Amino acid sequence: MASASTIAVALEGQLRLDDQPAFDAAVALARQGGGRLIVLACRPEGQRLRGPHQRRLAAQALASLQARLTAAAIPLLHFPQLSTEAALAEHGDQLRPETVLHCQESRLFGDWPIAPASFPRVFAEFRRGLQRSPLPPLPPADLSGLGAGLEGWPRAWLPSHGLPSHGLQPHGLPPQPHGGDRRSAFPFRGDEPRALARLQHYLFNSDGLRHYKASRNGLVGTEFSSKFSPFLGIGSLSVRRIWAEVLHYQALHGDDEGSQWLQQELLWREFFLWSEQHHGACFHDPGGIQGRPPSGQPPNGEPPSGEPDRERFQRWTRADSGHAVIDAQLRELLATGYLSNRGRQWVASHFVNELRLPWIWGARFFEWMLIDAQPALNTGNWAYLAGVGSDPRSFGGTPRRFDLERQLRLYDPQDSHRQQWS
Ligand SMILES: Cc1cc2nc3c(=O)[nH]c(=O)nc-3n(C[C@H](O)[C@H](O)[C@H](O)COP(=O)(O)OP(=O)(O)OC[C@H]3O[C@@H](n4cnc5c(N)ncnc54)[C@H](O)[C@@H]3O)c2cc1C
Repeated sequence: MASASTIAVALEGQLRLDDQPAFDAAVALARQGGGRLIVLACRPEGQRLRGPHQRRLAAQALASLQARLTAAAIPLLHFPQLSTEAALAEHGDQLRPETVLHCQESRLFGDWPIAPASFPRVFAEFRRGLQRSPLPPLPPADLSGLGAGLEGWPRAWLPSHGLPSHGLQPHGLPPQPHGGDRRSAFPFRGDEPRALARLQHYLFNSDGLRHYKASRNGLVGTEFSSKFSPFLGIGSLSVRRIWAEVLHYQALHGDDEGSQWLQQELLWREFFLWSEQHHGACFHDPGGIQGRPPSGQPPNGEPPSGEPDRERFQRWTRADSGHAVIDAQLRELLATGYLSNRGRQWVASHFVNELRLPWIWGARFFEWMLIDAQPALNTGNWAYLAGVGSDPRSFGGTPRRFDLERQLRLYDPQDSHRQQWS
């Protein structure tokens, strides 16, 4: 059990050791004052309920983290239903930490990259306005000799309770199927060693990054895009580590189009994360950051529309939208939790423009089903496509609409995605 000089690191959903400033600060404190470390895995404040694919991935990452902390005699105490604050309030007499340090979501910038007062509504201005470079990542902290010991903790607090076995593989081995659909474009486990192995593979052991600009609109397979998003979503990979490795790649191979394009996509992620923080609750409202009803859709705040809409929506959630290409995309989403960026755009555009259903419904369903669900990125992209977000074309106009026939000719002339998921 914890001694008087216990220092707690609260993971807050960040399931890795790499680039975790809170671990560094905890180690410094412990070494100064002879303290001991414990780690708390609680439900991050405000985190919405996660769907089955993302939950499975997070369980794998947690089990792996536990194995590595156990090797350093650091207890990882799991309170899946409680926030850190609630866990400390409920069990403070047993935990008794002197200090609690909270991990933070991985972002390229530690503080506002553009002053909140002049935060732009569109990405191009965000990118132009950036005045700093992303922060470099920290290496994993040396935790040796700092564990508070593994004995005496209530069994129910230890994550082996109810978690799948982690089955760790040595760093760098080929991906292990996680027991899901063999057609999955994301057949990887969610733990940190896998995340780092994928990063190395995509940047240095394959031509992935070099060809990224040309391949990123692909629909089938593991290599058309980086597949970093599921790891980022559960915090088993640091976005600063990705950025630093891209810089390393550029030092070796030059800053080619592939690496520049990936940097641009990582900045899109950053844009939506800071936008959500800037706009607050209205970011997720039906009227989006534009604060206006999506064209042809129920006005902001209006109760859900009538029975036929609900019925069409329910059919859509079962991959029965009435359009074969969209249904194939939805089948992939249901079976694996992953969907290519192009596929997500098609599905969202079809939902808004052809089915004319409230985009919020589609966004909520995606948030539940995606293996990489991240509310700021999901809402940001849905609102963009619904014409109430940061698409510059939509200000005062109508949402962009994808011509599916043309899209298919461009991105899947062989119809391979539909055949794979029919
Ligand atoms: C309707 C819709 C919903 C989406 N919901 C999510 C979500 O919940 N979580 C999520 O991580 N991404 C979401 N995206 C963005 C994007 O589709 C995924 O990040 C990407 O497909 C993940 O695969 P990847 O890591 O191989 O991407 P890559 O193409 O390899 O991109 C690398 C990284 O850049 C970032 N990125 C790429 N595209 C975008 C984008 N359009 N917006 C913001 N960041 C981006 C991601 O962090 C991604 O991991 C959504 C897009 C759409 C159109």
